[in-house]
Order: sequence, then C-alpha cells, then structure tokens
Amino acid sequence: MNTTVNKSQLSGWGGYRPIECRVAAPASRSALRQMVADRQSHPRLLMRGLGRSYGDSAVEPTGTVLLQNNLNRVRSFDHATGLLRCEAGVTLEDIIHVVLPHGWFLPTTPGTKFVTLGGAIAADVHGKNHHVDGTFGRWVQRLNLLLADGSECECSPLEHPELFWATIGGMGLTGVIVEAELQLRRCPSAYYHVSYRRCRNLDATLEVLAETDNSFTYSVGWIDCLGRGDRLGRSILMLGNDAQAGDLSGELRDHPFHVPPTRRKRVPLYFPNFALNRLSVSAFNYLYYAVHPDREVVVDYDSYFYPLDGIHDWNRIYGRRGFVQYQALFPQATAERGLRRALETLAAFGLASFLAVIKRSGPANPAPLSYLFDGYTLALDIPNVGPRMLEMARQLDDILLAEGGRLYLAKDSLMSPDTFRAMYPRLGQFLSVKRSVDPDNRFTSAQARRVGLLPSS
Ligand SMILES: Cc1cc2nc3c(=O)[nH]c(=O)nc-3n(C[C@H](O)[C@H](O)[C@H](O)COP(=O)(O)OP(=O)(O)OC[C@H]3O[C@@H](n4cnc5c(N)ncnc54)[C@H](O)[C@@H]3O)c2cc1C
Repeated sequence: MNTTVNKSQLSGWGGYRPIECRVAAPASRSALRQMVADRQSHPRLLMRGLGRSYGDSAVEPTGTVLLQNNLNRVRSFDHATGLLRCEAGVTLEDIIHVVLPHGWFLPTTPGTKFVTLGGAIAADVHGKNHHVDGTFGRWVQRLNLLLADGSECECSPLEHPELFWATIGGMGLTGVIVEAELQLRRCPSAYYHVSYRRCRNLDATLEVLAETDNSFTYSVGWIDCLGRGDRLGRSILMLGNDAQAGDLSGELRDHPFHVPPTRRKRVPLYFPNFALNRLSVSAFNYLYYAVHPDREVVVDYDSYFYPLDGIHDWNRIYGRRGFVQYQALFPQATAERGLRRALETLAAFGLASFLAVIKRSGPANPAPLSYLFDGYTLALDIPNVGPRMLEMARQLDDILLAEGGRLYLAKDSLMSPDTFRAMYPRLGQFLSVKRSVDPDNRFTSAQARRVGLLPSS
C-alpha cells in the first residue's frame, strides 16, 4: 500500500518561519524502503524526529519529510552489558522507561527527553557531561543506514568508519538511520546530588566551572544575560553527581529507580508578543538569582536533566512569531573574552530571554560536522522581534568568528553560508562522504541549502 503524503506547515521548536512541506509517515520499515526506492515520486527526502531542533534542520519544502512514529521498536536490551538496540524513532523518554528499572541510563542526554534516537544521533547531541563523557555519538556502537540508492549499510567506528562519523552529527544528510546500537551508562539510582553555586560575575562563573571540572560529572549554569558592569555574567551553577541508593531517604532507599509521577503543566495558548520584554525578563532574572542561594539537594533525573519537559508547549510563551535559539561555542583559549563580548552585546540589545545556559565542553570527536570542542557554550533564546533580532545575531556572529567559535546546527535558524564555512573547517571531509553515498543530493533540508552545505535550489 502506498504511503499517504499530506501537506503540513513545519518549523523547528522555535516556531520561526513555518514552511509548507509534504509530509508522510511510513507504516513500516518496508514502506520506508519503498519510498526511498521510489525516486520518481520522492526525488528529495528528509527524516524528521520530534522536531525539537530549533530551526529548519528537519524542514524541507522541496522534498518529502518522513516521520518515524511507526518506526519505534526496541529490538533488544542486554541487562548485563547495557547494550540497547532500537529503531531510530524510539524516543529518549521510551529508552529511559525501558532501561532505568534495570540500573541503566542514557550515556548523555540533551535538555529534553522528547527527542528521537535518530535525531539524537543526527545532531550528535550533548548533555551536561560533555567534558567527561563526550557526545551521544561516542556511545553509538553501530547503526543501520538506508542509503539514497535504496541499499542498507551497517556501519560502526570500525566498519565504514567515514560513513559512520559523517552520519554522527550529519543532520540526516547521509541517509536514513533506521536502527542503532547504543551503549548505556550504569547508574546507581534515578537521583542526583546537585550542588547550587551562585557566582556573582563571569570571572567567578568560569573559575567555579574550571575548579569543579574533575569533581562533578554534570555541570550546567543559568546565566543572567541582562547583567551589566560588575554583574555581567552572574550565574547559578548546578553541578551534579550520581546519588547512591544509600544516600536516598525513606522508601526511595529500597526503590532507588522509582520516581513518583508528577503532573505536567501546559502553556494553554500563545503569549502576546509584548509579554516578554526587557522589564519582565530583568524582573525574572533578579528573582531567580535571589531565590537560589548556595545549597546541596538530591533530585530525580527529570528535575535535573529535563526541567522544561514539565511544561508542555513552553515554546508558546514567545508568541506566534516564535524565537530563535543561539548557541555559541567559544574555544577554551578565547572563552573569557568571547563570552564577555557576547554578554555585553546581549545586555546592550536587551533582547535575550530568561532561558540562557552556560556549559563546559570537552574535546572534539572524529565526526566532521559534530559541534563541540574544548571550551564553553552559551545558549540563549532570542524572541523574534524582526530586524533588531537579526542585527543582534549578526553582531554575535562577528564576535564568534573573531574568537574562533562556532554555532550549533541543531539550534541554528540564521547562519549564512560564509559563516558556516568558516566555522566548520572539516566540511570538505563530510562532503566527500556525501558525494560517495548520495551523489544526487536526495537527502536535503532547508537548513542545508540555507547554509550552503548543499546547492540552494
Ligand atoms: C528544550 C530543548 C532542550 C535541548 N537541549 C539540548 C542539549 O542540551 N544538547 C543538545 O545537543 N541539543 C539539545 N536540544 C536540541 C535537540 O536535542 C536536537 O535538536 C535533536 O536533534 C532533536 O531531535 P528530534 O528527534 O526532535 O529530531 P528533529 O529535530 O526532528 O531532527 C533533527 C535532525 O535529525 C535528523 N534526523 C532525525 N531522525 C533521523 C533519522 N532517523 N535518520 C537520519 N536523520 C534523522 C533530521 O533530518 C534533522 O536534521 C534541545 C532541544 C530542546 C527543544
């Protein structure tokens, strides 16, 4: 039976500039294979996970966008070794539900569990432990890739290593990840010791992050992007380590993998565009800083890793015009100066939102389009206020380029071809693999064409 193709408005999580696309959800792996083989009806293709990339990475108006809601079976899980084999449409939430009761957790996780395995591999996502455990791709043992010619290829760091690494972080442009094997991480409980550290300015923030590099597996910080003068870069760091069962209180000690269910809230409608302004964000930042003194707590994995998942559709607070996320990575050597310049620019424009995050990153991996290398990242949401937003992003790009930094494809909505080429020096390596497996550029995305990774038409 032929898969139905419908028209639908698609955007990334930021809701910035939705575009009409042809969308289909193959009912099975064989239906997916049939669609890939049918060049006539589907000359161009793109896989989409849960659309949690912020910009246009999972959007393609000139081809067929394939959803993977029906390609989400867990194939095997070895409780003893923590090796998990799944179809790519399985979500990180599904994985946690299957493996946590057996004392395993994701090796690393982004700030939302509403992400597919395919999306996590294609973006080579990172978590709060990059400086210790690297990216998601480091833990992928092997993957099955459906190629543009309809054949399937199993690859790993040892078999077809170039194709494997080009697919890790390759944003769906090498083919369809249909299945993957992931090495999980042992965890002693579903809980984490979290140490809150209040830092009065950027120097203090960087000092504490550097000092605690070896003593905490996880680190992340909220940063006040409107702070100026001696408050520039003030932050609340949240440094975490696994909690042992014996550290838990009451009944949890006997059931360390149990997390009592909580009710999720929902943002019921789009906020009006004026709701987020300098005043409201300043007030939020003032209060947030004030109510977080230094303290030690034990919290469950949901509260520590996924605080935003507790509020469905939280992206609606930015209104119908949406927002863009800007994640800037500064190399270790220039991070202090780069972050200072970026924060000064943000404060001067007064456009950043209350959701701004600073993280430490460790060494790069062999994947040519993977995002991170040794340094610090600053991620923030910028409401779409039109030309002023574009001007601020342009100024931030200039700073980032001058300091040898980089933007993250999974978050990007605005990067230009020149900027992309300058920030991703291993692009040639990626393109040579792409040409060998997809010479006609069947796998494309709006983003790939916008940043000049693929031809624009
Ligand atoms: C609240 C929030 C917090 C986040 N925090 C982090 C973070 O801390 N760290 C981080 O790294 N990222 C973070 N992200 C970004 C997110 O993890 C990535 O964008 C991820 O790729 C989204 O997965 P998805 O399943 O929604 O994929 P989509 O957004 O739908 O697609 C992303 C890319 O993956 C490709 N793709 C999807 N499935 C396949 C497949 N089967 N085969 C080939 N290609 C495929 C798509 O073509 C596209 O290029 C966050 C996002 C949100 C909304």
